[in-house]
Amino acid sequence: MRRALFILIVLGLVTAGTLWVAARPASVTVAAGDVVIEIPLWLSALAFAVSLFVVGLIVRLYAGIRSQLGRRRLKRALRRRDEGDEALVSAFAALAAGDGAVALKHGEKARRLLGDTPLTLMLAGYAARAAGRVEAAETAFRLLAEQEGAAAALGHRGLAQLAVERGNRAVAADAARAALVHQPNAAWAKSFAFEDSVRRRDWHAALKLLPLAESGTDEAIRRAALLLAAAAEEGDPRAALRLEQQAAALAPALAPAHAAVVRRLRAGGHARTAERALREGLAKAPHPMLAALALEGPVGESKAERAKRVAALASEVGGGEMALAAAQAALEAEDWAEARRWTERARAAGVVDRRLHALLAKIAEGEFAGSERAHAEAEAHWRDAASAREPPEWTCANCGASHTEWSHICSSCGAVGSLRWGEARAMPPQSLLPAPLPGL
Ligand SMILES: [Zn+2]
Repeated sequence: MRRALFILIVLGLVTAGTLWVAARPASVTVAAGDVVIEIPLWLSALAFAVSLFVVGLIVRLYAGIRSQLGRRRLKRALRRRDEGDEALVSAFAALAAGDGAVALKHGEKARRLLGDTPLTLMLAGYAARAAGRVEAAETAFRLLAEQEGAAAALGHRGLAQLAVERGNRAVAADAARAALVHQPNAAWAKSFAFEDSVRRRDWHAALKLLPLAESGTDEAIRRAALLLAAAAEEGDPRAALRLEQQAAALAPALAPAHAAVVRRLRAGGHARTAERALREGLAKAPHPMLAALALEGPVGESKAERAKRVAALASEVGGGEMALAAAQAALEAEDWAEARRWTERARAAGVVDRRLHALLAKIAEGEFAGSERAHAEAEAHWRDAASAREPPEWTCANCGASHTEWSHICSSCGAVGSLRWGEARAMPPQSLLPAPLPGL
C-alpha cells in the first residue's frame, strides 16, 4: 500500500515536472568543434533518464554474474572440503587397520585438498610413520610443532614417538619438554621429562614434575624418595636437613627418611634433637634401621648404660623391632634375664623370624657358657633359626624385586620410591612412570 502510494507520488511529480518543462520552450546546446546541435530540454531529460536506466541495467548484470561466479567457487570449495574430509576419514581408517601405505595415499590426498592444517599435518606424520617413511613423518611433525597451542604439542608428541622408536630417549625428553610449554598438563610429556630428569639425577627438576601429594600416599612416598636423593647430594648440611625433614613429614612411615634426619642431626652435633627425632621416627616407622640407630649410643657409653637407655626407649615407643634391639643390648651387657624378657616381648609383638631364634641361641650360649645345657639349648635355637622365616626386607611394589637396603630408585625396574618394607602390596599404576606412547 505504502509502495503504491510512493509510486503514485513519484509519477505525479514526474508528470508535473514534464508539463512544467514542456510549457517552457527551453533547449540544450551541444557544441563539438564546428558542429552545434540544439536539443529540446524535454528530449535531453529523456535521454538522461534512458542512460541512467541502461547504466543501472549493466550494474545489475555485472553483480549477477559476480554472484553466480562466487556461488560456483563456493560450491567447488565445499566439494573440495567434502572430498578432503572423506580422504581424512579413509586415512584414519587405514591407520586404525594398520595399513600405512593406504593411509599415506589418503593422507596425501587430504593434504592436497585441504592444505597444511593441523589435522592434515598430524595425519601425514602418522601415516608416514606407519608406512615406515621416517623422514617424511619427521618433516610433517616438525611443521605441526611450528603451529600454536595444542597443535604444536601434538607435533612434539609425534617427534617424541619417533625418537623413542629410534631408541633416543634424550631427544624424546626434549620433545616432551617442548610439548609441556604448549600443554602443561600432558601426562605423556611429564612422564618423559620425569624419566629424563631422574636419569640425569636432576632430582629438583623431577620433583617439579610430580604432583603435590597428600602425606602418606604412594605419591608422597615418591616425592620423599626424591627429596632424600636430593639431600644426599646437597652440599649444605642445613639445606639437606630441610629436605630430609620434608621427606619425613611427607612419608611418616618411611623409616629411611627418619634415619636420614637422625644421622644428619647427630653429625651436626645436635644429639638431643636427634634423639627426639629418633623417638618420633620409631613411633611412626618401627624399623630395624631406626632400631640400629638406637643401639648407637654416645661415645664412652658402657654396655650396661646402653642396655638401660635402649630398654627405656623400647618401653616408650613399643613395637617388636625395638624389643629386639633392647634384647640385643641386654645380651651385649650380659644381662641374660633382661635379654630373655625382651625377646619374649619381641615375640609377643609378632617378631618371630630368624633374628629372634638367633638371639635366643646367643643368649643360651652366653648364659650357660661352656656347659652341656648351653650347647643343647643353643643348638635347638639355631635349628629353629634355620627353619624360621626370613626377616622382612625391602620389596619393590612395582616389579617385586627384593632389596637388602632401601634406595630411592629400584635398581631392578628403575621405579622411583617404590620400595616397601615387608610384604609389598602392588602399587597402583604409576602415571608418571615412563609409559609407552600410544600411537595412532
Ligand atoms: Zn622395581
